[in-house]
Amino acid sequence: MKAPIAGWGNHPRIETSLASPRYVDELGELLSRATSCIARGNGRSYGDASLNSQLTVATGHLDRILDLDLDNGQIRCEAGLLLADLLDLLIPRGWFVPVVPGTSLVSIGGMAATDVHGKNHHKDGGFGRFVTDMEVLTGDGQVHHCSAENNPELFAATLGGMGLTGIILTVTFRLMRLPSRWIRQTTVAARDLAEIMDCFESRVATSYTVAWIDCLAGARARGRSLFFGGEHAEVESLPGAYQQTNANWRPRQRPVPIHAPSMLLNRWSVGLFNRLYHWRGRRRPQSELVGIAPYFFPLDSLANWNRLYGRRGFIQHQCVLPLESSARGLEAILKRTASSGQGSMLAVLKLLGDQAGPLSFPMRGYTLAMDFPASKASLALLRELDAIVRDHQGRIYLAKDACASADDIRQGYPALDQLMAVREQYQCRGFRSLLSDRLALS
Ligand SMILES: Cc1cc2nc3c(=O)[nH]c(=O)nc-3n(C[C@H](O)[C@H](O)[C@H](O)COP(=O)(O)OP(=O)(O)OC[C@H]3O[C@@H](n4cnc5c(N)ncnc54)[C@H](O)[C@@H]3O)c2cc1C
Repeated sequence: MKAPIAGWGNHPRIETSLASPRYVDELGELLSRATSCIARGNGRSYGDASLNSQLTVATGHLDRILDLDLDNGQIRCEAGLLLADLLDLLIPRGWFVPVVPGTSLVSIGGMAATDVHGKNHHKDGGFGRFVTDMEVLTGDGQVHHCSAENNPELFAATLGGMGLTGIILTVTFRLMRLPSRWIRQTTVAARDLAEIMDCFESRVATSYTVAWIDCLAGARARGRSLFFGGEHAEVESLPGAYQQTNANWRPRQRPVPIHAPSMLLNRWSVGLFNRLYHWRGRRRPQSELVGIAPYFFPLDSLANWNRLYGRRGFIQHQCVLPLESSARGLEAILKRTASSGQGSMLAVLKLLGDQAGPLSFPMRGYTLAMDFPASKASLALLRELDAIVRDHQGRIYLAKDACASADDIRQGYPALDQLMAVREQYQCRGFRSLLSDRLALS
């Protein structure tokens, strides 16, 4: 039976046969019933990456931990395991995952398939850097072990490969020691783009760095932002009450019960929110202790926050620009966004480090992510922003995308041919998504 599904942005929305196998053994028979399919983790990619209108294979039940070695900090698990569930186990035992995205509600397979970056990418690279081995079910019906030594081309193309090399069954990766459940956060208010870029570049030694940026600020305050640096706090440096390790790290979730009317988010309401948020940020203590959830996963406390954008959903535009062209490119993107009046409350700036695999999104430079309600006007704006990205030799993040063109992606990812060669070699043409069809990657 067909069911409606969408990515986190609720745009686009399609009907599909959604299969939820309980055991890996069921996959062979399942895949033989369809000519095309795509794997889906927890559906936290924003656009159409985890959607196939014929068969979408949800991995949520394939979530077993197969081996956990806490002497050496290594885990082997099924790909559907939720990061939040894994952290429930690790945090009280003093361990953590070395790269986490901005939400804990993602599957480990989804993290590998998009090679997620965290706030520490400038220092530590992406999640893929900590993956030592994967088992992947490819289109030839075989399960292949892959690693840097074993089937290395399949390994490289699968990390960040958006599910197009097959279904990741298991992931083995390294863990990191967690000194305490607290992050020592430093907040710095920047008045404009030059100040915030200086802030990032003078703090490259800081473990975690990220900034909220006011993308509607006018010319004189363009790039006005709040920088949040973070370091794991050592337990000995903490006041007594903070030293407890077994308290629940997860935030209490408050629901957004209904879709908000889309007219609530307009130039005036967003502009006012942004000014107030920056004003409040300037008054925060420069240094404070913040818990793991509010520092790494601030939006997880609001369940279904995607409903705030209304029934029509929203699209996130996330690009990265090379360091050399970042200042010019960011200026152009922010100028165009502010003049359109369509800027978002959730605009995030980060400094990324070097690229890893051929399809990994990060490159050394700045990444800017902004949310826009799905509408004709914002789609037109996004096409203009894509052109600016292209002119500055940048690229779009496929895990957020819902509207880029095949040409944009070809230019942004010059090593795409390596993915296509692996798809041929492992007979993966049947693994396709709405995203891969739109971008001529199928
Ligand atoms: C609030 C929020 C904050 C975010 N912050 C960040 C961030 O800081 N950094 C970042 O990099 N990303 C970020 N993301 C994006 C998110 O981390 C990625 O989209 C991640 O892939 C989502 O995991 P998922 O399990 O929900 O995957 P899905 O959305 O279900 O799938 C994503 C892609 O992975 C593929 N896939 C999933 N499971 C498998 C599998 N077992 N085998 C093969 N392919 C598979 C799918 O086919 C699809 O192409 C954020 C998303 C949200 C909602």
